[in-house]
Amino acid sequence: MELIFEIGSKGRHLSLLPECDVPKVELGEKYRRTDAPHLPELSENEISRHYTKLAGRTHGVNDGFYPLGSCTMKYNPKVNEEAAALKGFNRIHPLQDPSTVKGALKVMKMAEDALCEITGMDAFTMQPSAGAHGEFTGLLLIKAYHTDRGDMARTKIIVPDSAHGTNPASAAMCGYQVVSIPSGPDGCVDLDALRAAVGPDTAGLMLTNPNTVGLFDKNILDITKIVHEAGGLCYYDGANLNAVMGIVRPGDMGFDCIHSNLHKTFSTPHGGGGPGAGPVGCKKFLARYLPGLCIEEKADGEFDLVKAPGSMGSVKAFNGNFLVVVRALTYILMMGKEGIPEASSNAVLNANYMRVKLSDDFKMAYDTTCMHEFVMDLSPLVKETGVNALDVAKGMLDYGIHPPTMYFPLIVHEALMVEPTETEPKEVLDQCIDVLHEICDIAHTDPDYLHGAPHDTVIGRPDEVEAARHPVVRYTWE
Ligand SMILES: *Cc1c(COP(=O)(O)O)cnc(C)c1O
Repeated sequence: MELIFEIGSKGRHLSLLPECDVPKVELGEKYRRTDAPHLPELSENEISRHYTKLAGRTHGVNDGFYPLGSCTMKYNPKVNEEAAALKGFNRIHPLQDPSTVKGALKVMKMAEDALCEITGMDAFTMQPSAGAHGEFTGLLLIKAYHTDRGDMARTKIIVPDSAHGTNPASAAMCGYQVVSIPSGPDGCVDLDALRAAVGPDTAGLMLTNPNTVGLFDKNILDITKIVHEAGGLCYYDGANLNAVMGIVRPGDMGFDCIHSNLHKTFSTPHGGGGPGAGPVGCKKFLARYLPGLCIEEKADGEFDLVKAPGSMGSVKAFNGNFLVVVRALTYILMMGKEGIPEASSNAVLNANYMRVKLSDDFKMAYDTTCMHEFVMDLSPLVKETGVNALDVAKGMLDYGIHPPTMYFPLIVHEALMVEPTETEPKEVLDQCIDVLHEICDIAHTDPDYLHGAPHDTVIGRPDEVEAARHPVVRYTWE
């Protein structure tokens, strides 16, 4: 396919720009460029065709099943977009006087209240723009707390080996030393290892729950107790609250702070780099360190924007990605008190349905009831047929299904991590189950076919390391 720079022709353009509604400013000579910029010149028709063609070459939740584990690729209701398109929300400026944007402030406050209710926390900041950004912010809360108490010996964050990969990375970015502790054979945190790891140097623990093998840690109350008794704080990675929202609350399990991904659990679109939102919630005693401005609703219906007394500063401009919050709140209100736990139950049901139906052909990493996702261990298939997790994933592409997450978590070899989400009907799950059974048959009869898969997509097997390490993101004009 041609790049946008390679189509069109000099002088071609569209004349749809609105009249300029701000005063013209003449830039001084030293600010002006001396040569004309290289820009593609196309008609509207060409632009439209170009992007339609591009869209046809990608795969999104609107195209088909997308069971990408740990990513919660659920359907994003279109009503969210309608709310986010309202002029009162998207034609405002963060520097406007609060009295002129009361509706927007009310939305932020309502979203904060809803997230507090769902997670069992006392306050939230909407500033962080992604899950990992939220982790970073939450750890800064923990750091501020210890620093404030003059307890400078707490330099370590404990991270179980079943955590999301961003957890140790965020801890390291905050200047903490990461202490990894192993999971037991049941996939849960090894309590003895945790007891041995905590001490006066423990700043806190980060727990991904359900963890990356899709299990709810049955010892969760013991875990938070052990960490608290050692003087550390507990951070809950709630990027995927999809199995637990409306059913149990991290705040009730002893966690002091949390982030949640609005662009996963709360149905705002993601992929392609954002915008997202990873709001961070905390218990009252940590709220004094929250970043940005906190929204306070007064009795007369006016709002105050107040900096928390011990605020860490800002982790993002203004109030974060506000329109993402609008979408998430719309979703929460549309679902309501009954819909939220129902979504969780259906997410868990869908995952377990697929897990059980696939168990005859595929080894499950943990053969027990899972939460919103499960992990298959394809090492027996590799041994029998030479077909590995990558081959199976590539094979699925030919059936129009986005593959599960591959080779993650690292504690399972040849892992395929499947998260169907609650928004898929039984027929779609059944079709995927049939496809995986068929691929398993092909692995035994014609493994080379799968080594060469996909056979039916525009791109087959790019050099993924090269693409990640040396992406070509710039067009060089001749
Ligand atoms: C997706 C995810 C993250 C990271 O979220 P980003 O928005 O991609 O930064 C962290 N933890 C868990 C458990 C996740 O699934």
